[in-house]
Amino acid sequence: MPSLPARTDVLIVGAGPVGLALACALTQLGVDHVVIDRNDGPQPGTRAAGLQPGTLEYLDRLGLAKDLVAEGERGRGFQLHDGRRSLLRVPYDELDTPFPYVLLLSQQATEEHLDRHLAQRGGVVHRGYKLLDFGSDFPGVTATVAAPDGVVHAVTARYVVGCDGVHSRVRDIAGIGFPGDAPEQLYALADVRLTTAPPGPDTSDTTFFLSSAGVLLTSPLAGGLCRIVASVPPGSGAPSLSDVESFLAARGPADFPRVAEVVATSTYRVQERVAQRLSEGPVFLAGDAAHTHSPAGGQGMNTGIQDAGNLAWKLHAVLTGVAPGELLDTYQGERHPVAERLVAFTSQIAGLALVRGETLGQLRNQVIALAAQAPGVTDWLARRLGQLDIDYAPRLEAPATDAHHVGRRVPASVVPPHGLDWILAVPKSSGGPDGDHRLGTVTVRVLDGLDTTLLIRPDGYLAATGVPADPSAVQASLGRYALGRTS
Ligand SMILES: Cc1cc2nc3c(=O)[nH]c(=O)nc-3n(C[C@H](O)[C@H](O)[C@H](O)COP(=O)(O)OP(=O)(O)OC[C@H]3O[C@@H](n4cnc5c(N)ncnc54)[C@H](O)[C@@H]3O)c2cc1C
Repeated sequence: MPSLPARTDVLIVGAGPVGLALACALTQLGVDHVVIDRNDGPQPGTRAAGLQPGTLEYLDRLGLAKDLVAEGERGRGFQLHDGRRSLLRVPYDELDTPFPYVLLLSQQATEEHLDRHLAQRGGVVHRGYKLLDFGSDFPGVTATVAAPDGVVHAVTARYVVGCDGVHSRVRDIAGIGFPGDAPEQLYALADVRLTTAPPGPDTSDTTFFLSSAGVLLTSPLAGGLCRIVASVPPGSGAPSLSDVESFLAARGPADFPRVAEVVATSTYRVQERVAQRLSEGPVFLAGDAAHTHSPAGGQGMNTGIQDAGNLAWKLHAVLTGVAPGELLDTYQGERHPVAERLVAFTSQIAGLALVRGETLGQLRNQVIALAAQAPGVTDWLARRLGQLDIDYAPRLEAPATDAHHVGRRVPASVVPPHGLDWILAVPKSSGGPDGDHRLGTVTVRVLDGLDTTLLIRPDGYLAATGVPADPSAVQASLGRYALGRTS
């Protein structure tokens, strides 16, 4: 491993999925950075077991989605079930995305892909290096880092990003609070091999069984495994094979197959917290360091990777002088509401799932079955769970129009992305040169069927409409557009 640099533009603390995704993006953008992690390598275990469409779209911009998709299983949707009948099904098939499914893949496999991808592009993770402390060193910070041999190194960085998980040292040093609750919710997790495939038409779905005995979730995993999650009383330990069979017998459908083998087990204690702020001067928080919540809905790691996607291009734009430092303030403005909304949403899902008592449980199930009939409900849920409905419009000046909603994601079916470039989509009718071309960090796409020019950010969100079709004029004003300003 190369020695730890003493100076860098961006120090990334933590090489979990979020730190690795950020490192991959910064490598692709050519931003000088250093990644440290106190562990020797990606941690074993499934943990987060699904990549949502919105995350896959971003990982596709990093050139990673194809390999991930080749290894994972495609889950076609989510279901709420009462053990006898499906109450509500949320299919992903109709989502307007190249990835209309939840990619079921262990977090360990996801991290290994990210790690390999980074290494293949010349990136390095300094493993066994632990952040001890940092202090202000205008305009950035100087951090002290303990090497595997115990020697303490100093690293001066313009920016520090804490991707160091729920017990974030970066968050503590920066003095950022982590308010919230630790509800009495404990889940037992088991990755198992079943004796036969589960019955039914939608066997690739992740299914929540809502029973008065407690909540049970089943989900297929890559490699022929099945993830079982069950709510358990506080103080319970990791489940054994017979525990898992009891959960299935008491809460699942009568015809669910038996468990042949338990491959991995653990428990997960829920905390619902959002960092008071996602940045403090040159320090940023991303992933679990910034938010943690119930695993219901498989959102946590996905949101963290998209934090990285939001921050990476902004760091690049500011460090290359394309945009003023003020752009980095929009990280808080855009991602903090996403984190708060996420914690509220997963808390509602968990609250609904954990309703106690036979009568209340039956009432809940009836309400869910009725809600499933309401037009648009399952489509809305699919976009929400798939993380395709994120909207940064509230902080932007541009008004939404029916056709083009500034601050929202632009589907690849409307304008295909090109890595982490800005995309200037120009109507063919505008009379400019035919065919795609590139100027600096802007790729120009000439497209049929557009009624106006669209400018799309490197993370796939619409920055502006009706901008000049001239890429050099756009390139010269990118800083303004990055800030969401139209004038
Ligand atoms: C049992 C379990 C089940 C889960 N199930 C789900 C699920 O079903 N769905 C879901 O979305 N999420 C789930 N999660 C949560 C998911 O694992 C996290 O959201 C995800 O790991 C967050 O990634 P991260 O990169 O932010 O942090 P982490 O994965 O925690 O990575 C942080 C990294 O920072 C490093 N680090 C920490 N401190 C320092 C330091 N001082 N110096 C250097 N390095 C440091 C650590 O070694 C680690 O590698 C589960 C978690 C667990 C434990």
